[in-house]
Amino acid sequence: MTVRFRSVLICLFVVVVAGWQVDAQQRQLKPGFNLFSVEQDIQLGREAASEIEKQVQVSSDRELTEYFQRIGRRLASQPAAGKFPYTFKVVLDKDINAFALPGGFTYMNTGLIVQADNEAQIAGVIAHEISHVALRHGTNQASKANLIQLPALLAGGMAGSNTMLGQLAQLGIGLGAQSVLLKFSRGAEQDADLLGARIMSSAGYNPLDMARFFEKLEAAAGKGGPAFQFLSSHPKPGNRVKAVEQEIRYLPAREYDAGEGDLARMKTIVDSLHKNMPARRAPSNAQGTGPSRPADARPAGGFSQCQGPGFDMACPGNWKTFGDQRSGSVTFAAEQGLVQTGTGVSIAYGALAGTYSPADGRVVLDRDTAQLIRQFQADNPGLRASGSARRGRVDGSPALVTPLIAQSAFAGEREMSQLVTVDRGNALFYLVLIAPESESRYAASAFDQMLRSVRFRQH
Ligand code: ZN
Repeated sequence: MTVRFRSVLICLFVVVVAGWQVDAQQRQLKPGFNLFSVEQDIQLGREAASEIEKQVQVSSDRELTEYFQRIGRRLASQPAAGKFPYTFKVVLDKDINAFALPGGFTYMNTGLIVQADNEAQIAGVIAHEISHVALRHGTNQASKANLIQLPALLAGGMAGSNTMLGQLAQLGIGLGAQSVLLKFSRGAEQDADLLGARIMSSAGYNPLDMARFFEKLEAAAGKGGPAFQFLSSHPKPGNRVKAVEQEIRYLPAREYDAGEGDLARMKTIVDSLHKNMPARRAPSNAQGTGPSRPADARPAGGFSQCQGPGFDMACPGNWKTFGDQRSGSVTFAAEQGLVQTGTGVSIAYGALAGTYSPADGRVVLDRDTAQLIRQFQADNPGLRASGSARRGRVDGSPALVTPLIAQSAFAGEREMSQLVTVDRGNALFYLVLIAPESESRYAASAFDQMLRSVRFRQH
């Protein structure tokens, strides 16, 4: 199944400290109505984690991971975090994001570390996420959303070979952007803020740092910075920050002395990891645009003939050909589909075609497709095959269509592409059809038409 990781929205944490000081006013926070057992929360979370880890790049950097784990465990060991088997993993991704799955499987992007001024700000995000787990918000919302079929499904003890995630998907409960499992109500957000503040404070972090982090992300979003996507899904964060600042004056004075490592050192590690994440490069004669919207690069204007190395094809009328046929690979895209990134021009919406010659001069379709994917990965470490390849024919030759997933050069987007490899005897022909996930439905029919129109020139 498809997991839209990028659109999995982390919910921002805000420290709401109303009723903090006076015990009589402190709100009771307990998990709400839930058809799932705690064990089922954990099973579902474990299955979802294994799906998600196929599609994101979990960092293998030990120092960074252990730092995150120390902060996470400090917070998760507070009684308010409940008894869940919390795990903490770092995702190599420049976007500002973090999220936790039911049962406590918690992820933080490297992009978040770049933005944080101190450890308490990181701790605040994690404390908020832990609170969603402890309050069982995901399965609470799923329970409320499907009262009719869910009880039977859960009581059935997950009969058969299908996973819980697979069975829930049949009820329309998945991991997509709007999933009840991952996008919470405003009330749930407020509860997670409140519990998160309590967890932070008891773990030795100042909840005030949350408010400061919030302000910073808000300011960055105002300038069109990387926090925009993050904050756009949250209602009026400015007002929430103000509320925090007003309430924070009533907090009892105490020592906040938690510290699990050297954040400056972690930022250095993250910087070097980010530097080694090149985007797929477009040919040198392609100019990337500034910030553009995926819809501007959408196939339009009918189809017209275009040419690549050794083949002819129909291309969308508004797309141009970049690169040289003699160079071995060409790019077809609208100018808005080529995005300037820190490392060059990336094909964010378009197609890349070329040929690849196996060392032994004889194509073995599966082997050489795998080898080609490895070559793409060297240029784009986040890229990976997603799901199983389909066999078919392109202009009469045996072909393989492999779904690929990667980080899109469009901000806040995940890229869903199709790698088409064709056995041409002594050379492997390839065509990569690239689109951000939000454009899948517009791209699909154009890609299908392009692929069916491929005609190899005889040599
Ligand atoms: Zn949240």
